[in-house]
Amino acid sequence: MAHTNKHYLDLPGSYFFTEISQRVNTYKKTHPEKSIIRLSIGDVTRPLVPAVIKALHDATDEMGQPSSFHGYGPEHGYEFLIDEIIANDYTSRNVHIEADEIFVSDGTKCDIANIQELFDPSDTVAIIDPVYPVYIDSNVMSGRLGKLINGIWSKLIYLPCTIENNFIPELPTQHPDIIYLCYPNNPTGTVLSKDQLTIWVNYAKKERAIILFDAAYEAYITDPTIPHSIYEIDGAKEVAIEFRSFSKTAGFTGLRCAYTVIPKELKANTREGNEQYLNMMWNRRQTTKYNGCSYIVQKAASAIYTPEGRKQIQESIQYYMNNALIIQNAITQMGITAVGGINAPYVWIKTPDNLSSWDFFDLLLQNAGVVGTPGIGFGPHGEGYFRLTGFGSYEDTNKAIERIQKALLI
Ligand SMILES: *Cc1c(COP(=O)(O)O)cnc(C)c1O
Repeated sequence: MAHTNKHYLDLPGSYFFTEISQRVNTYKKTHPEKSIIRLSIGDVTRPLVPAVIKALHDATDEMGQPSSFHGYGPEHGYEFLIDEIIANDYTSRNVHIEADEIFVSDGTKCDIANIQELFDPSDTVAIIDPVYPVYIDSNVMSGRLGKLINGIWSKLIYLPCTIENNFIPELPTQHPDIIYLCYPNNPTGTVLSKDQLTIWVNYAKKERAIILFDAAYEAYITDPTIPHSIYEIDGAKEVAIEFRSFSKTAGFTGLRCAYTVIPKELKANTREGNEQYLNMMWNRRQTTKYNGCSYIVQKAASAIYTPEGRKQIQESIQYYMNNALIIQNAITQMGITAVGGINAPYVWIKTPDNLSSWDFFDLLLQNAGVVGTPGIGFGPHGEGYFRLTGFGSYEDTNKAIERIQKALLI
């Protein structure tokens, strides 16, 4: 008899997105004449840029010739890609990262969900709230968060980010071993300044905690004072692992490529007090359980660092950010509080009249035919908030804004 991992039973069903589509479908049936605009998209929509397509074609041709065929690649990723990552993403920002500190993979979602394997199941976890749900669910699967009681995980330390603290998480009063930060943030679109991030790095040092820093949206930062990497903060290499993805940066959500940085000096203790290097542990983990991102895809990723590739992906990013700014400005002009939209493609709206996030969802759907995402789907402190994204088309974004203005200003 095989026995299942009991912690899977602690996971709530994934009702959230099903509930959204059910409400949209019901509305469509009762209002077949109405068109619906989705500003709920959490995925890129513009196609891969020409430089990436060319690299994919060229690499595919190489794979068809005996002289240039590639089988299993190097464990950390190909040198041609890692060199570009180091030069463009780190050296250019005065951060020294070495090749064997970078682990190329097929996604940040899997890396950030898998990384918790390196830590003791009884370690305490602190997670900013609201946030990308993967951090919580992956820790639930390993039994670290206890039980869900009235929507709250009994052993999780929540780090609320709300209007009351200007979306800047406060240091917890209870000691965490592992801290998840995501900046620029999904869903709030907010960022941390260098000083604010420094507070967290110093805190982690003092508590001997590890920060897991998800920087999937760093390419969307427009404010030149905002750090793109946590390693821009002094001492961060002793306390932080950083996750970067080509998904939102270069439209790779369907192609799959990302990388994780684990500095060689980064250590954690065994329960007996012996120091372990996390870089070595992750190397062991990846070489055992993972065989690398494909040659073709790594070639495609390296193409975004060429001058033309860089220019082309910037055009897509600016396209989304222009939409986000249109949303942010229009909502604010209606006298409604909204953050984000400046350094991330997300606009986070405080629902007017203290509506619940689902009531605001229904209001926009029924009166404007616009679909967004209720904040409660990103954690308990997302209640009373609502996410719209810049990932729609320019035309749809403008049309949606016009309809929202009509619907809310009556
Ligand atoms: C989209 C997204 C990712 C990207 O994950 P991939 O697996 O690389 O596509 C990571 N973190 C956050 C917060 C995201 O929104």
